[in-house]
Amino acid sequence: MRRVAILGATGSIGASALDVIARHPDRYRASVLTANQSVDELVALAARFEPDLAVIADGALEQSLRARLTAAGLKTRVASGAAGLREAAAGDTADTIVAAIVGAAGLDSTLAAARAGKRLLLANKEAVVMAGPLLLDALRAGGGELIPIDSEHNAIFQCLPGGRPNLAHAGVRRVVLTASGGPFRGKRREELAAVTPDQACAHPNWRMGRKISVDSATLMNKGLEVIEAHWLFGAAATQIDVVVHPQSIVHSLVEYADGSVLAQLGNPDMRTALAHALAWPERVESGVVPLDLLTIGRLDFQPADRQTFRCLDLAYQVLDAGGTAPTTLNAANEIAVAAFLDGTLPFLAIAELIEATLEQLPIAPATDLDSLVYADLTARQEAQRIMRRSFC
Ligand code: NAD
Ligand code: MG
Repeated sequence: MRRVAILGATGSIGASALDVIARHPDRYRASVLTANQSVDELVALAARFEPDLAVIADGALEQSLRARLTAAGLKTRVASGAAGLREAAAGDTADTIVAAIVGAAGLDSTLAAARAGKRLLLANKEAVVMAGPLLLDALRAGGGELIPIDSEHNAIFQCLPGGRPNLAHAGVRRVVLTASGGPFRGKRREELAAVTPDQACAHPNWRMGRKISVDSATLMNKGLEVIEAHWLFGAAATQIDVVVHPQSIVHSLVEYADGSVLAQLGNPDMRTALAHALAWPERVESGVVPLDLLTIGRLDFQPADRQTFRCLDLAYQVLDAGGTAPTTLNAANEIAVAAFLDGTLPFLAIAELIEATLEQLPIAPATDLDSLVYADLTARQEAQRIMRRSFC
């Protein structure tokens, strides 16, 4: 029986993970659930899954969560704050961790799970972008295993020889990440000046949280995924290509030295990746509708429009620059996306704000967690400052 901690249980990935777990009560148990502030949702999930531990990130809500769980007759233990999340990720209550907190807020618990040698089901791509080398060190030290949940990286993992997720040993020429192109695919720059958060979050193929939905609309999501592929698979930037594939059926491809190209296909539903990673190296049912190629009819591929969606090139640039540059990009993006979702920053200013922040800040070596946390904080402050001065 795998005991699974879902970090970010109230989110979109959290819901998909719990759906798969509920289909296999003989194999999986949701032993730990965490949320940021949504006590009501966490209590409802706890009533259904009866975890051993429930963690609310906002410490001010711990008492209210405890009272509500006790009133519901549950024996679930309660913790909160950074220490609670660390316990959820690294404690004895779970052997498998779904890292599905959104943004840099997930870094600490993701690293803790890696260090503790858990099976790490990684959705929190921002943690890899911020601190790729530290995550790899933590995984080596902990001796656990990482299985990517991001659909593209899960696809690449499935297309690489079993248990050898490093390109250097596998005769790989390149990997090709597919991108849906998001809700604004085909739009010209001037058509994007006044788009609203709801329009940006109306993704044609996937139902996701609002931050990643905006990232998909700007193509920053694909940029973050290029950096994620670099660290997870040891791929040089020149070995990582992106093609737009509007149907989101081919989730990514691996091209080998002998000319073979392996792809992983499936309907766009994150439960496939979650079921794959929970059961690996076995396979279990996920609840995803079987793929019917005759109904889909055709699969299209086109180049990304890098002039209109500049975030993709910004991500390649910080990957080349190295050091703290990806941390700065990620932090500035989080500030920009939050401001866009609040209605205070126009859509096209997201890329401009990130670029301006990168131009202002020096690149330092990314040697330890302190320097990355400092780079993250500095980039947030700088992005806020530039935004106040130039964009709002
Ligand atoms: P979401 O917004 O739906 O859920 C986020 C979860 O994180 C919630 O449970 C929330 O309570 C928790 N959270 C938010 N801020 C927190 C904080 N400061 N401290 C602790 N917990 C906090 O997001 P999502 O769409 O489920 O995405 C989660 C992660 O998975 C992101 O990194 C995203 O890029 C990645 N991802 C998502 C999808 C998808 O289909 N949704 C696909 C690939 C990768
Ligand atoms: Mg993805």
